Amino acid sequence: MIPIKETFLSIQGEGYYAGQSSYFIRTQGCDIGCHWCDEPDSWSMNEGVNMSFNTLVHDIQKTNTQIIIFTGGEPLMHDLTSVSDNIRNYGYKLHLETSGAYPLSGQWDWITLSPKKIKPPLSEIYPFASELKIIIYNNNDFDWAIDQARKVNKSCLLYLQPEWSQIEKMKSKIFNFLSHNPRWKLSLQMHKYLNIK
Ligand code: SF4
Repeated sequence: MIPIKETFLSIQGEGYYAGQSSYFIRTQGCDIGCHWCDEPDSWSMNEGVNMSFNTLVHDIQKTNTQIIIFTGGEPLMHDLTSVSDNIRNYGYKLHLETSGAYPLSGQWDWITLSPKKIKPPLSEIYPFASELKIIIYNNNDFDWAIDQARKVNKSCLLYLQPEWSQIEKMKSKIFNFLSHNPRWKLSLQMHKYLNIK
């Protein structure tokens, strides 16, 4: 098994599936180093729990959710082939949230690609992105959004998501961008407004 920081049942707070009950598996380990990261405790590769697969599935089965979301940390720092195949055998829908900076492993029903400028995605992942989520922290991020959208497939959904501390500062610029780029939509971190995980 891969090192896991935590598992929990919550709602997806972001993107197309916002509001959907989901079971989260937060993997341990990330070397991207976003200065605004919500989960810096997930960075170390020397922590996390090596939960057995049977324990994990037993925990999932106590919930009624059908969606399992791998998040991080950066899940693709681990080979997810085995764990995703095994969970899929139980009939669950599997979602992945990734920066795309490491090789894609596992099979997924939905991939949220959230590229980071300091360690951009590998080119191989763009065709598989179901949604592209660009975090807006400053003005340069709008150009980054346009650049990244050129690389995904035509059916990929496009979201701008203001970094939590910058919402007031960036919201009028985001609204302006959305009005000129109708393929893009706004994603807000619903779980933070509800003060839940
Ligand atoms: S990629 Fe995600 S987990 Fe890693 S530093 Fe950035 S926001 Fe944090």
